[in-house]
Amino acid sequence: MRQSLVVGNWKMNGTLATNKLLAEGIVAGLNASSESAACAVCVPFVYLPSIGDIVKGSRLGLGAQNIANKASGAFTGEVAASMLVEFGCQYALVGHSERRTYYGDTNQTVAERFCQAQEQGITPILCIGETLAQRENNQTFAVVEEQLDVVIALAGIHAFSKAVIAYEPVWAIGTGKTATDEQAQEVHHHIRSYIAAKDQTIADKIQILYGGSAKPDNAKGLFAMPDIDGGLIGGASLDAESFLQICHSI
Ligand code: PEP
Repeated sequence: MRQSLVVGNWKMNGTLATNKLLAEGIVAGLNASSESAACAVCVPFVYLPSIGDIVKGSRLGLGAQNIANKASGAFTGEVAASMLVEFGCQYALVGHSERRTYYGDTNQTVAERFCQAQEQGITPILCIGETLAQRENNQTFAVVEEQLDVVIALAGIHAFSKAVIAYEPVWAIGTGKTATDEQAQEVHHHIRSYIAAKDQTIADKIQILYGGSAKPDNAKGLFAMPDIDGGLIGGASLDAESFLQICHSI
């Protein structure tokens, strides 16, 4: 039985004051109920110390939204895995589609970030998914396979025993257009089968999250699918009540 996981991606939103309130609201809501998936929030780098203090000792985990693909050195603007560990980071998103689209992340640099996270004991959340054009050209499976292949080639399949995958169709992120339960399940099943062909035990164990306009009113249906183990939540994670409802809908 896989443990469910719901991760909020706050992206570049909020202020120190509003983000502290948001974290406090989520922690209070999780404390008030024992029935919930494991939950974490991936916050902007600068807020890691403050949010880290709030989540300490709570059921809310802490993550970053990106991680350097090098260990240290002359890489202006990057934040190393070893630095994130100092602030209690347990998770790091790698290869979010916004990083791939706007900041030039490639399958290779994503694979390097994945390895850097694992070297410091941070669980990488590997984001993969197709664009609308790729879906319309029936390339969805090929795209996610290639995104996985490059990481498997660099890190090895066994590295996936300490990783999370987030399937995020690019056309569904921040658009209000969610994949149907069946569309998402079809790709999740394909991802799990693809990994199973290399290692059945890892495939059975790995958490595969769905991301893309997930909200309180559609999360239940998505999370009921056999290969969907939780969600990566953008917009709806910016409101404590919505995020908690999603965490409780597992
Ligand atoms: C995301 O940023 O990973 C995401 C899924 O965003 P949203 O939920 O807003 O579509």
